[in-house]
Amino acid sequence: MSEHKGIWVIAEKTPENQIAGVSLELVNAAKGLSQKLSGEEVGVLLLTGNDDVEPLLKELSEAGAQKVYLVRDENLERYSTELYSKAACDAITQKKPSIVLIGATTTGRDLAPRISARLNTGLTADCTGLDINEQGLLAATRPTFGGNLMATILCKTCRPQMATVRPKVLPKAEPDTSNSARVEKLDINLDPSAIKVKILECLNACQSAGCKIEDAEIIIAGGRGIKNAEGFKILEGLAESLGGAVAASRACVDAGWRGHCDQVGQTGKTVCPKIYIACGISGAIQHLAGMNSSDIIIAINKDPEAPIFQVATYGIVGDLFEVVPALTEAIRNSRLTCSC
Ligand SMILES: Cc1cc2nc3c(=O)[nH]c(=O)nc-3n(C[C@H](O)[C@H](O)[C@H](O)COP(=O)(O)OP(=O)(O)OC[C@H]3O[C@@H](n4cnc5c(N)ncnc54)[C@H](O)[C@@H]3O)c2cc1C
Repeated sequence: MSEHKGIWVIAEKTPENQIAGVSLELVNAAKGLSQKLSGEEVGVLLLTGNDDVEPLLKELSEAGAQKVYLVRDENLERYSTELYSKAACDAITQKKPSIVLIGATTTGRDLAPRISARLNTGLTADCTGLDINEQGLLAATRPTFGGNLMATILCKTCRPQMATVRPKVLPKAEPDTSNSARVEKLDINLDPSAIKVKILECLNACQSAGCKIEDAEIIIAGGRGIKNAEGFKILEGLAESLGGAVAASRACVDAGWRGHCDQVGQTGKTVCPKIYIACGISGAIQHLAGMNSSDIIIAINKDPEAPIFQVATYGIVGDLFEVVPALTEAIRNSRLTCSC
């Protein structure tokens, strides 16, 4: 175990060939952890195809990475579970970091358990906080029992210590143009013929207009109270007036009113916007697990006993078909007044 040193972030790229926000947040968090570990190296593992790698290295350097371990291979052009986990495991086995952090995104949630299982180590998934305890161990905190308790989990006997962390719960640092990360290319042998799954085409299953819910600062979410797919139109009006995105509870996704990419909750996405407006959502623990770290929660529900009111910052007891259009109109009018 003593051979393992340093804190790694496995970087995720966006389809636009940028570093995902959560990876930059994790580099910043790794800097904080490093200070508590006598300045252990903050490294980033970047797995990429033959795209232009310079903008990615610049972003990671400005985020505060001290070293970038670069694996470039045409087979890593697109994310593939098998090839990415093989490349990451080989890189970790070569360099022996003590801590490995990954964003709790769809990709990260797919990749991290594969790596931890292959390396026979522990993984704390979906964390909201990271620290170093008195023994110098990673103390990874995550909600449990549907968000009613916070558990801090240690990995005492295996290395690396691994955690996935929810996007937007940890702050990003301002870019530091004076930092210059060293780059080390790693030689990893990837044999695509050994891979069982071949990716032929990537389709965007999310047909929703506007920004993605995981990036939105304001989310208007609809639940079964919205009644049908048509009902979401009034939420889209409110989202448009506020510059937000529309999300849904699982009940709506199961009913086919919205796509799965809009689902918030335990089996959907975890979001952390500045404002989350829950319309006709009862507040089941599986839904709360995906949104209860939002800064401000506004609940609109006709049932005053609905559990959503227990987590809401502000509550409106009423019929959403009256409240939401009134709210939208008031916001549009106030915008008009402001611009005058
Ligand atoms: C393993 C597992 C995983 C799950 N994962 C998820 C998940 O990821 N995300 C998720 O959301 N759920 C998830 N669920 C389902 C979850 O338990 C709930 O069933 C679901 O969240 C309920 O959705 P809802 O609040 O939209 O519907 P309901 O619970 O039916 O609530 C509808 C609400 O709308 C209100 N309402 C009705 N009409 C109006 C009106 N006109 N105006 C105002 N209010 C109105 C009602 O008072 C009620 O509170 C999961 C369940 C399990 C077992």
